[in-house]
Amino acid sequence: KYSTASAIEEPVSPPVQVNYTQLLINGQFVKAASEKTFPTLDPRTGDVIAHVAEGDAEDVNRAVASARKAFDEGPWPKMAAYERQRILLRFADLIEKHNDELAALETWDNGKPFEQAAKIEVPMLARLMRYYAGWADKIHGLTVPADGPYHVQTLHEPIGVTGQIIPWNFPLLMYGWKIGPALACGNTIVLKTAEQTPLSALLASNLLHEAGLPPGVLNVISGFGPTAGAALASHMDVDKLAFTGSTSTGKIVLQLAARSNLKPVTLELGGKSPFIICEDADVDKAVELAHFALFFNQGQCCCAGSRTFVHERVYDEFVEKSKARALKRAVGDPFKVGTEQGPQIDTEQFEKILGYIRSGVENGATLEAGGGRLGNKGFYIKPTVFSNVKDDMLIAREEIFGPVQSILKYKDLDDVIHRANSTPYGLAAGVFTQNLDTANTLTRALRAGTVWVNCFDTFDAAIPFGGYKMSGHGREKGIYSLSNYLQVKAVVTPLKNPAW
Ligand code: NAD
Repeated sequence: KYSTASAIEEPVSPPVQVNYTQLLINGQFVKAASEKTFPTLDPRTGDVIAHVAEGDAEDVNRAVASARKAFDEGPWPKMAAYERQRILLRFADLIEKHNDELAALETWDNGKPFEQAAKIEVPMLARLMRYYAGWADKIHGLTVPADGPYHVQTLHEPIGVTGQIIPWNFPLLMYGWKIGPALACGNTIVLKTAEQTPLSALLASNLLHEAGLPPGVLNVISGFGPTAGAALASHMDVDKLAFTGSTSTGKIVLQLAARSNLKPVTLELGGKSPFIICEDADVDKAVELAHFALFFNQGQCCCAGSRTFVHERVYDEFVEKSKARALKRAVGDPFKVGTEQGPQIDTEQFEKILGYIRSGVENGATLEAGGGRLGNKGFYIKPTVFSNVKDDMLIAREEIFGPVQSILKYKDLDDVIHRANSTPYGLAAGVFTQNLDTANTLTRALRAGTVWVNCFDTFDAAIPFGGYKMSGHGREKGIYSLSNYLQVKAVVTPLKNPAW
């Protein structure tokens, strides 16, 4: 029903209007200083959704000045933590109230299934805000038992003006992962959205102001990486930078931070995550989970299980069933009920993915399913499965960021541990087994920031996420994310009467 061109040829009219297209600076929606705009496109058709203000260095300067004033003059960093908490809780309520509007905007701008945005992502954004609201009044320092007659304490203070740069694959969740801990700790923010998906963060930020956020605490700049993004990363008055995106851009922003004011940088970058199916696996369940691990969000997940390692004893059955599952995948208009997979984000990613598919065929992998575009409009790609993939093939080494599953065969645990770790990335890994010893061996041996055992893509506000190796620096979410946004001040006072 869905995997046909006709299912995607007549796009459903999106049940939402675009109300916010300008930059958000000092609590006001304003034009870019240059008055320039850029179009944001509907991935279902390539048509223009709206023209959005295009921020550049001058707008970043205005936004940083507003965030600096809001930090230095307050009230935000000095406000009772309980008040910050209440604003975040009110924001969560408003997110819930506007759930479907936020989700529809996300689907329209990004192409992801509306059911996914409405039932998973927007509720998760509300959950994240409540989680960080919970932290706001529980952040405090320690009393330290130093040698000598001193009273020593640590103050945990907000770090200042934080710059945040996010990608397009989960626009609202990346926004939430960034602003949640920064706001809970009392920082002010200039956030740059991805140029492909500027819309949902503007609507959400308007709700945050409706919830009572003081002007200047959160400024949102739409615009491009080399202009607005680079201006933020190299700004002398930005105290901390948090970046999510590709490893190549991560290297650039780290250099910009180092060359300017040495601001600390957290990086959430790319991955090539292994998902290991052991010989004792229930093959039907393993096929379904590996399919989800790769194809979720059109394959546009930094932690996608993009190297499916399968034990040789169950390999043939696994490949046959994975092929059948991919052929059944419901690809179509993301606004239609039942759609599992919408279009890719834009023409650049679409062409890049088709190039990887061609390279898989040329390098001798077996094309089991898919292998090309779907329909003749927009950026739809058929769910694609390759078997007989070898470690040195491009499709097994590089991040495809699309609906292309690569299935590799392995012999034993030592073999698969070595091969799974033979990558410059280390974001996530999956293990599928009933055997506790196997699970324990693999979870300890795999060099990755997350290891999912008999599950995949299980996210929670409290579970930290981040990468080993070239997948990044630092952790987001959970208790670990707070330290990214805090300075520790040691306060040392001599004791007049040390006997007491
Ligand atoms: P990207 O690196 O091209 O863009 C990410 C952001 O960086 C965008 O806002 C972009 O405008 C900005 N940017 C681009 N060039 C810049 C520059 N010179 N200076 C400053 N900012 C710049 O990545 P993308 O294509 O938008 O996103 C996909 C990538 O993000 C994938 O590689 C994926 O693995 C990664 N990703 C990682 C995570 C994670 O948590 N680890 C999450 C989502 C996406």
